[in-house]
Amino acid sequence: MEYGFTEEFAREMDQQDPLKEMRNEYLFPQHNGRDVLYFCGNSLGLQPKGAAASVKQELDDWAEFGVEGHFDAKRPWYAYHEFFADSLARIVGASPAEVVAMNGLTTNIHIMMTSFYRPEGSRTKILCEAKAFPSDQSALDTQARIHGLDPADVIVEVGPREDEHLVRHEDVLAKIDELGDELALVMMGGVNYYSGQLFDMQGITSAAHAVGALVCFDLAHAVGNIDLKLHDWDVDVAMWCSYKYLNSGPGSVAGVFVHERHANNTDMIRFGGWWGHDKVERFKMEPEFRPMPTAEGWQLSNAPVFSMAVHRAALDLFDRTSMAELRTKGEKLTGYFEFVVDQVSEANEGMSFEIITPREPEQRGCQISILAHGAGREPVSY
Ligand SMILES: *Cc1c(COP(=O)(O)O)cnc(C)c1O
Repeated sequence: MEYGFTEEFAREMDQQDPLKEMRNEYLFPQHNGRDVLYFCGNSLGLQPKGAAASVKQELDDWAEFGVEGHFDAKRPWYAYHEFFADSLARIVGASPAEVVAMNGLTTNIHIMMTSFYRPEGSRTKILCEAKAFPSDQSALDTQARIHGLDPADVIVEVGPREDEHLVRHEDVLAKIDELGDELALVMMGGVNYYSGQLFDMQGITSAAHAVGALVCFDLAHAVGNIDLKLHDWDVDVAMWCSYKYLNSGPGSVAGVFVHERHANNTDMIRFGGWWGHDKVERFKMEPEFRPMPTAEGWQLSNAPVFSMAVHRAALDLFDRTSMAELRTKGEKLTGYFEFVVDQVSEANEGMSFEIITPREPEQRGCQISILAHGAGREPVSY
């Protein structure tokens, strides 16, 4: 695509954008009386205009029905998580039975690793990318310790080669092969939060399965950004948060994917809780735990309705389009931003912007990470 470095060109692109009306569905912070140019959707997505009414609906139903809201609310609370399955399934490329909205992201890493990281004999290793998000590193470290293992022995990182910023796909595959039957789990980001590099999840999954390991992806920066096909790629398990590209508000409810071949397996080791129990029998309040044969079988607590109400309003907007359309737009916007940064960098001596995100659109999402040589930001202190 040929880009032009003029405001006219940018406005013309906006005019041609088939999704241009969607922009009006979000609330933008104001600066000098105008919408800010918002480049932080990978950290916290903007508020959908429908969010407030969606939360108010739950407050009103609570006021009107009290405890009967579990059954009489417009969206009955006892099955509230079910209102997300269809939308999430479309967003991550799964069947509705393979996804569930629950908890927070790091909580879900722990809950799912309890089932999917089962070190046995010499098969104990976890492969992850270097510079994974700190919370993921803490999760892996403490998961190893829970099993009485030394994190330094079992966590293997694959990083960029010297003087490079990105991890080469061939190096990930070589590491998987090298670890072979010592590899228990590959646990990586789908898109690295720092570099914006998109990993070949399908390739990594088939390589890991070939040596008998399971595969888990943290999709914090991939969900709502990449056109995912988790079921077809044969990924074992994945999790994400909803407040980045899914625009569902700070700390809002997260989500999980479990491939149906595992979800069906109700014998799988897991933490149990009443919301994972067979719904039909849940309110009989019997002590025995029989998990549902779907991703819902990993739920612990009843649904956090208020954060989910925002999540619902956010996903209503995703329901009006498709990940394929969003990806097409994402590639254009990201490509244009890259072009503009390069133009500015060329025009300014003494300050250069180095883009560390892959230059190839198929190896990135809609994030461009820049090293601002000579003008770096000081770390924020609180
Ligand atoms: C944003 C992000 C998190 C944040 O974890 P929370 O449990 O939602 O606070 C964790 N991991 C990755 C890779 C992230 O990008």
